[in-house]
Amino acid sequence: MKIRQELLKNIRQVEPYVPGEQPQGRVVKLNTNENPYPPSPEVRKALDALDTDAFRLYPDPASSVLIKALAEQYQVGEDQVFAGVGSDDVLSLCFLTFFNSDRPVLFPDITYSFYRVWAELYRIPYECPELDRNFRIVKEDYYRENGGVIFPNPNAPTAIYEGLDFVEDILEHNRDSIVIVDEAYIDFAGRSAVELVDKYDNLIVTQTFSKSRSMAGMRIGYAIASPELIRCLNDVKYSFNSYTMSRAALVCGAAAVQDRAYFEENVRRITATRARVQDQLRELGFEMTGADANFLFARHPEHDAKRLFGELKKRRIYVRHWNDERIRQYLRITVGTDEEMDIFFRALRDILDNK
Ligand SMILES: *Cc1c(COP(=O)(O)O)cnc(C)c1O
Repeated sequence: MKIRQELLKNIRQVEPYVPGEQPQGRVVKLNTNENPYPPSPEVRKALDALDTDAFRLYPDPASSVLIKALAEQYQVGEDQVFAGVGSDDVLSLCFLTFFNSDRPVLFPDITYSFYRVWAELYRIPYECPELDRNFRIVKEDYYRENGGVIFPNPNAPTAIYEGLDFVEDILEHNRDSIVIVDEAYIDFAGRSAVELVDKYDNLIVTQTFSKSRSMAGMRIGYAIASPELIRCLNDVKYSFNSYTMSRAALVCGAAAVQDRAYFEENVRRITATRARVQDQLRELGFEMTGADANFLFARHPEHDAKRLFGELKKRRIYVRHWNDERIRQYLRITVGTDEEMDIFFRALRDILDNK
Protein backbone atom coordinates (compact mmCIF):
# COMPACT_ATOMS: atom_id res chain seq x y z
CA MET A 1 0.00 0.00 0.00
CA LYS A 2 1.32 3.44 -0.87
CA ILE A 3 1.74 6.07 1.83
CA ARG A 4 -0.85 8.78 1.34
CA GLN A 5 0.45 12.20 0.28
CA GLU A 6 -0.97 13.77 3.48
CA LEU A 7 1.20 11.46 5.59
CA LEU A 8 4.16 11.52 3.26
CA LYS A 9 4.67 15.26 3.52
CA ASN A 10 5.66 14.93 7.20
CA ILE A 11 7.97 11.96 6.80
CA ARG A 12 11.75 12.36 6.59
CA GLN A 13 12.79 10.56 3.45
CA VAL A 14 16.39 9.89 2.56
CA GLU A 15 18.32 8.02 -0.05
CA PRO A 16 20.24 5.58 2.13
CA TYR A 17 23.89 4.64 2.00
CA VAL A 18 24.34 1.39 0.09
CA PRO A 19 26.77 -0.88 1.92
CA GLY A 20 28.79 -3.52 0.08
CA GLU A 21 27.08 -6.88 -0.28
CA GLN A 22 27.35 -9.30 2.62
CA PRO A 23 27.00 -12.64 0.82
CA GLN A 24 26.53 -15.69 3.02
CA GLY A 25 28.30 -18.98 2.50
CA ARG A 26 31.62 -19.80 0.88
CA VAL A 27 32.87 -16.87 -1.13
CA VAL A 28 36.08 -14.92 -1.47
CA LYS A 29 35.04 -11.65 0.09
CA LEU A 30 37.17 -8.73 -1.01
CA ASN A 31 34.41 -6.09 -1.14
CA THR A 32 34.08 -4.30 2.20
CA ASN A 33 37.66 -3.95 3.46
CA GLU A 34 37.28 -6.28 6.40
CA ASN A 35 40.42 -7.82 7.85
CA PRO A 36 40.94 -11.42 6.65
CA TYR A 37 42.54 -12.45 9.95
CA PRO A 38 40.78 -13.06 13.26
CA PRO A 39 41.09 -10.56 16.11
CA SER A 40 43.65 -10.97 18.89
CA PRO A 41 43.28 -14.16 20.98
CA GLU A 42 42.93 -11.78 23.95
CA VAL A 43 39.47 -10.91 22.59
CA ARG A 44 38.38 -14.53 22.92
CA LYS A 45 39.65 -14.59 26.50
CA ALA A 46 37.79 -11.39 27.33
CA LEU A 47 34.58 -12.85 25.90
CA ASP A 48 35.02 -16.09 27.86
CA ALA A 49 35.48 -14.11 31.06
CA LEU A 50 32.27 -12.12 30.50
CA ASP A 51 29.73 -12.43 33.28
CA THR A 52 26.52 -13.03 31.35
CA ASP A 53 24.43 -12.52 34.51
CA ALA A 54 25.49 -8.90 34.28
CA PHE A 55 23.76 -8.62 30.91
CA ARG A 56 20.59 -7.78 32.83
CA LEU A 57 22.25 -4.50 33.82
CA TYR A 58 22.88 -1.59 31.47
CA PRO A 59 26.50 -1.18 30.41
CA ASP A 60 28.74 1.68 31.56
CA PRO A 61 27.46 4.69 29.57
CA ALA A 62 30.91 6.30 29.70
CA SER A 63 32.56 3.20 28.12
CA SER A 64 35.37 3.63 30.67
CA VAL A 65 37.41 0.42 30.15
CA LEU A 66 37.59 1.03 26.45
CA ILE A 67 38.27 4.76 26.72
CA LYS A 68 41.03 4.07 29.24
CA ALA A 69 42.72 1.53 26.95
CA LEU A 70 42.52 3.90 23.98
CA ALA A 71 43.79 6.90 25.96
CA GLU A 72 46.79 4.86 27.07
CA GLN A 73 47.45 3.58 23.57
CA TYR A 74 47.36 7.05 21.98
CA GLN A 75 48.91 8.94 24.90
CA VAL A 76 46.01 11.35 25.30
CA GLY A 77 43.72 12.16 28.21
CA GLU A 78 40.69 9.98 28.87
CA ASP A 79 38.64 13.15 28.40
CA GLN A 80 39.99 13.33 24.84
CA VAL A 81 38.42 10.07 23.65
CA PHE A 82 34.87 9.30 22.55
CA ALA A 83 33.69 5.77 21.67
CA GLY A 84 30.77 4.70 19.51
CA VAL A 85 29.16 1.84 17.61
CA GLY A 86 31.63 1.76 14.76
CA SER A 87 33.09 4.94 13.35
CA ASP A 88 29.90 5.31 11.29
CA ASP A 89 28.10 6.03 14.56
CA VAL A 90 30.87 8.38 15.70
CA LEU A 91 30.99 10.20 12.37
CA SER A 92 27.24 10.58 12.13
CA LEU A 93 27.20 12.09 15.65
CA CYS A 94 30.06 14.40 14.60
CA PHE A 95 28.02 15.62 11.63
CA LEU A 96 25.10 16.31 13.93
CA THR A 97 27.24 18.01 16.59
CA PHE A 98 29.84 19.98 14.68
CA PHE A 99 28.35 20.75 11.29
CA ASN A 100 25.73 23.18 12.45
CA SER A 101 26.22 26.11 10.10
CA ASP A 102 24.39 27.69 7.15
CA ARG A 103 27.65 27.55 5.23
CA PRO A 104 28.44 24.39 3.30
CA VAL A 105 30.48 21.59 4.74
CA LEU A 106 33.29 20.58 2.37
CA PHE A 107 34.35 17.04 1.42
CA PRO A 108 35.84 15.58 -1.78
CA ASP A 109 33.64 14.52 -4.72
CA ILE A 110 35.15 11.05 -4.58
CA THR A 111 35.24 9.84 -1.00
CA TYR A 112 33.36 7.79 1.57
CA SER A 113 29.80 8.00 0.27
CA PHE A 114 28.27 8.09 3.75
CA TYR A 115 29.26 11.77 4.14
CA ARG A 116 26.74 12.86 1.54
CA VAL A 117 24.05 10.67 3.12
CA TRP A 118 24.54 12.21 6.59
CA ALA A 119 24.59 15.73 5.16
CA GLU A 120 21.28 15.00 3.42
CA LEU A 121 19.79 13.28 6.47
CA TYR A 122 20.63 16.16 8.81
CA ARG A 123 19.99 18.80 6.10
CA ILE A 124 23.48 20.20 6.31
CA PRO A 125 24.48 22.19 3.22
CA TYR A 126 27.57 20.73 1.53
CA GLU A 127 29.87 21.14 -1.44
CA CYS A 128 32.20 18.57 -2.96
CA PRO A 129 35.43 19.95 -4.47
CA GLU A 130 36.76 17.64 -7.18
CA LEU A 131 39.82 15.51 -6.70
CA ASP A 132 42.48 16.35 -9.31
CA ARG A 133 43.10 14.08 -12.30
CA ASN A 134 45.39 11.89 -10.22
CA PHE A 135 42.61 11.57 -7.65
CA ARG A 136 44.45 13.71 -5.12
CA ILE A 137 42.68 16.15 -2.80
CA VAL A 138 43.44 19.76 -3.84
CA LYS A 139 44.09 21.48 -0.52
CA GLU A 140 43.49 24.99 -1.90
CA ASP A 141 39.86 24.01 -2.51
CA TYR A 142 39.46 23.94 1.27
CA TYR A 143 40.68 27.50 1.86
CA ARG A 144 37.23 29.01 1.32
CA GLU A 145 34.55 29.84 3.84
CA ASN A 146 32.74 26.73 5.02
CA GLY A 147 30.73 25.14 7.80
CA GLY A 148 33.27 22.38 8.41
CA VAL A 149 35.61 20.06 6.56
CA ILE A 150 35.83 16.27 6.50
CA PHE A 151 38.03 13.91 4.52
CA PRO A 152 39.41 10.43 5.05
CA ASN A 153 43.18 10.05 5.27
CA PRO A 154 44.04 7.83 3.46
CA ASN A 155 41.10 8.73 1.23
CA ALA A 156 38.68 6.00 0.22
CA PRO A 157 38.31 4.48 -2.30
CA THR A 158 41.51 5.98 -3.76
CA ALA A 159 43.89 4.60 -1.07
CA ILE A 160 45.94 7.80 -1.19
CA TYR A 161 47.50 9.04 2.06
CA GLU A 162 48.52 12.67 2.50
CA GLY A 163 51.24 13.50 5.01
CA LEU A 164 50.75 15.54 8.15
CA ASP A 165 52.04 18.71 6.41
CA PHE A 166 49.02 18.49 4.17
CA VAL A 167 46.65 17.92 7.10
CA GLU A 168 48.19 20.83 9.02
CA ASP A 169 47.85 23.10 6.01
CA ILE A 170 44.10 22.41 5.89
CA LEU A 171 43.85 22.92 9.66
CA GLU A 172 45.75 26.23 9.44
CA HIS A 173 43.44 27.52 6.70
CA ASN A 174 40.34 26.56 8.66
CA ARG A 175 41.03 27.82 12.16
CA ASP A 176 37.35 28.74 12.57
CA SER A 177 35.88 25.46 11.28
CA ILE A 178 35.89 21.96 12.64
CA VAL A 179 38.07 19.67 10.53
CA ILE A 180 37.39 15.93 10.84
CA VAL A 181 40.08 13.55 9.62
CA ASP A 182 38.57 10.08 9.14
CA GLU A 183 41.49 7.72 9.73
CA ALA A 184 39.71 4.41 9.09
CA TYR A 185 42.81 3.12 7.23
CA ILE A 186 45.61 5.04 8.93
CA ASP A 187 47.28 1.93 10.39
CA PHE A 188 48.08 0.76 6.84
CA ALA A 189 49.42 4.17 5.83
CA GLY A 190 51.54 6.58 7.86
CA ARG A 191 51.58 9.01 10.74
CA SER A 192 48.27 9.76 12.38
CA ALA A 193 46.90 13.25 12.95
CA VAL A 194 46.24 12.24 16.58
CA GLU A 195 49.59 13.86 17.39
CA LEU A 196 48.10 17.21 16.29
CA VAL A 197 45.04 17.29 18.55
CA ASP A 198 46.76 19.27 21.31
CA LYS A 199 47.99 21.80 18.77
CA TYR A 200 44.68 22.37 16.92
CA ASP A 201 41.47 22.99 18.82
CA ASN A 202 39.52 22.54 15.55
CA LEU A 203 40.72 18.97 14.84
CA ILE A 204 38.81 15.73 15.35
CA VAL A 205 40.39 12.40 14.38
CA THR A 206 38.24 9.29 14.02
CA GLN A 207 39.39 5.69 13.79
CA THR A 208 37.79 2.25 13.78
CA PHE A 209 38.26 -1.33 14.96
CA SER A 210 36.71 -2.62 11.75
CA LYS A 211 39.80 -2.77 9.57
CA SER A 212 43.22 -3.01 11.23
CA ARG A 213 41.82 -4.60 14.40
CA SER A 214 39.70 -7.28 12.67
CA MET A 215 36.50 -6.42 14.56
CA ALA A 216 33.97 -5.09 12.02
CA GLY A 217 31.35 -7.39 13.55
CA MET A 218 31.76 -5.89 17.03
CA ARG A 219 31.08 -2.33 15.86
CA ILE A 220 33.59 -0.13 17.65
CA GLY A 221 34.84 3.28 16.55
CA TYR A 222 36.25 6.31 18.33
CA ALA A 223 37.15 9.96 18.06
CA ILE A 224 40.11 11.79 19.56
CA ALA A 225 40.04 15.58 20.03
CA SER A 226 40.27 18.29 22.68
CA PRO A 227 38.37 17.64 25.94
CA GLU A 228 36.00 20.50 25.04
CA LEU A 229 35.00 19.00 21.68
CA ILE A 230 34.67 15.53 23.21
CA ARG A 231 32.32 17.02 25.80
CA CYS A 232 30.10 18.45 23.02
CA LEU A 233 30.02 15.05 21.36
CA ASN A 234 29.07 13.36 24.63
CA ASP A 235 26.28 15.88 25.24
CA VAL A 236 24.74 14.98 21.90
CA LYS A 237 25.23 11.26 22.47
CA TYR A 238 23.49 11.44 25.86
CA SER A 239 20.63 13.26 24.14
CA PHE A 240 20.28 10.39 21.72
CA ASN A 241 21.13 7.05 23.31
CA SER A 242 23.23 6.79 26.49
CA TYR A 243 24.03 3.08 26.26
CA THR A 244 25.48 2.63 22.80
CA MET A 245 28.33 0.23 23.57
CA SER A 246 27.41 -3.27 24.74
CA ARG A 247 29.23 -4.94 27.63
CA ALA A 248 30.77 -7.38 25.14
CA ALA A 249 32.03 -4.62 22.84
CA LEU A 250 33.59 -2.72 25.73
CA VAL A 251 35.70 -5.59 27.10
CA CYS A 252 36.58 -7.02 23.69
CA GLY A 253 37.61 -3.61 22.46
CA ALA A 254 39.83 -2.98 25.46
CA ALA A 255 41.45 -6.43 25.10
CA ALA A 256 42.18 -5.82 21.41
CA VAL A 257 43.87 -2.47 22.07
CA GLN A 258 46.04 -3.92 24.82
CA ASP A 259 47.48 -6.63 22.54
CA ARG A 260 49.77 -4.34 20.63
CA ALA A 261 52.09 -7.05 19.31
CA TYR A 262 49.25 -8.95 17.63
CA PHE A 263 47.93 -5.76 16.07
CA GLU A 264 51.31 -4.86 14.61
CA GLU A 265 51.84 -8.35 13.19
CA ASN A 266 48.35 -8.30 11.68
CA VAL A 267 49.01 -4.99 9.92
CA ARG A 268 52.42 -6.20 8.75
CA ARG A 269 50.94 -9.33 7.17
CA ILE A 270 48.40 -7.28 5.26
CA THR A 271 50.87 -4.72 3.99
CA ALA A 272 53.16 -7.56 2.84
CA THR A 273 50.32 -9.17 0.87
CA ARG A 274 49.35 -5.75 -0.46
CA ALA A 275 52.80 -5.28 -1.99
CA ARG A 276 52.55 -8.64 -3.70
CA VAL A 277 49.02 -7.93 -5.00
CA GLN A 278 50.15 -4.57 -6.31
CA ASP A 279 52.98 -6.18 -8.31
CA GLN A 280 50.70 -8.85 -9.72
CA LEU A 281 48.03 -6.35 -10.73
CA ARG A 282 50.68 -4.25 -12.47
CA GLU A 283 51.99 -7.28 -14.34
CA LEU A 284 48.47 -7.86 -15.66
CA GLY A 285 48.32 -4.27 -16.94
CA PHE A 286 46.26 -2.66 -14.17
CA GLU A 287 46.85 0.90 -13.01
CA MET A 288 46.32 1.88 -9.39
CA THR A 289 45.61 5.22 -7.72
CA GLY A 290 47.42 4.61 -4.44
CA ALA A 291 48.31 1.76 -2.08
CA ASP A 292 48.09 3.23 1.40
CA ALA A 293 45.14 1.20 2.77
CA ASN A 294 44.06 -2.45 3.04
CA PHE A 295 42.59 -2.26 -0.45
CA LEU A 296 43.67 -1.25 -3.94
CA PHE A 297 41.73 0.84 -6.43
CA ALA A 298 42.60 -0.47 -9.88
CA ARG A 299 41.60 -0.06 -13.52
CA HIS A 300 42.61 -1.88 -16.65
CA PRO A 301 42.92 0.22 -19.82
CA GLU A 302 41.50 -2.58 -21.99
CA HIS A 303 38.95 -4.27 -19.79
CA ASP A 304 35.63 -2.87 -18.63
CA ALA A 305 35.47 -2.81 -14.84
CA LYS A 306 31.81 -3.68 -14.65
CA ARG A 307 32.37 -6.78 -16.76
CA LEU A 308 35.30 -7.85 -14.58
CA PHE A 309 33.17 -7.27 -11.48
CA GLY A 310 30.37 -9.44 -12.90
CA GLU A 311 32.70 -12.21 -14.06
CA LEU A 312 34.44 -12.33 -10.68
CA LYS A 313 31.09 -12.48 -8.93
CA LYS A 314 30.04 -15.45 -11.09
CA ARG A 315 33.11 -17.18 -9.66
CA ARG A 316 31.99 -16.23 -6.15
CA ILE A 317 34.67 -13.60 -5.76
CA TYR A 318 33.31 -10.29 -4.48
CA VAL A 319 35.03 -6.95 -5.08
CA ARG A 320 33.46 -3.47 -5.11
CA HIS A 321 32.39 -1.47 -8.16
CA TRP A 322 30.56 1.85 -8.43
CA ASN A 323 28.69 3.22 -11.42
CA ASP A 324 29.67 6.84 -10.63
CA GLU A 325 31.05 8.55 -13.69
CA ARG A 326 34.61 9.30 -12.64
CA ILE A 327 35.31 5.90 -11.14
CA ARG A 328 33.25 3.43 -13.13
CA GLN A 329 36.32 1.88 -14.71
CA TYR A 330 37.79 1.05 -11.31
CA LEU A 331 37.49 -1.90 -8.99
CA ARG A 332 38.18 -1.65 -5.29
CA ILE A 333 39.85 -4.82 -4.15
CA THR A 334 40.32 -5.57 -0.46
CA VAL A 335 43.62 -7.20 0.47
CA GLY A 336 42.72 -10.67 1.77
CA THR A 337 44.95 -13.56 2.83
CA ASP A 338 47.63 -14.80 0.43
CA GLU A 339 45.43 -17.81 -0.36
CA GLU A 340 42.42 -15.63 -1.15
CA MET A 341 44.51 -13.42 -3.40
CA ASP A 342 45.81 -16.49 -5.25
CA ILE A 343 42.22 -17.56 -5.95
CA PHE A 344 41.42 -14.02 -7.02
CA PHE A 345 44.35 -13.88 -9.46
CA ARG A 346 43.60 -17.30 -10.94
CA ALA A 347 40.07 -16.13 -11.71
CA LEU A 348 41.22 -12.73 -12.95
CA ARG A 349 43.76 -14.22 -15.38
CA ASP A 350 41.11 -16.55 -16.70
CA ILE A 351 38.70 -13.63 -17.24
CA LEU A 352 41.34 -11.44 -18.92
CA ASP A 353 42.33 -14.30 -21.26
CA ASN A 354 38.74 -14.98 -22.32
CA LYS A 355 37.59 -11.53 -23.32
C1 LIG B 1 35.01 1.48 6.96
C2 LIG B 1 34.99 2.98 7.02
C3 LIG B 1 34.35 3.67 8.08
C4 LIG B 1 33.45 3.06 9.11
O1 LIG B 1 33.75 1.93 9.63
P1 LIG B 1 32.95 1.36 10.90
O2 LIG B 1 32.86 -0.08 10.59
O3 LIG B 1 31.62 2.02 11.02
O4 LIG B 1 33.84 1.69 12.04
C5 LIG B 1 34.46 5.04 8.12
N1 LIG B 1 35.11 5.72 7.18
C6 LIG B 1 35.69 5.12 6.14
C7 LIG B 1 36.41 5.93 5.13
C8 LIG B 1 35.64 3.72 6.03
O5 LIG B 1 36.17 3.12 4.97
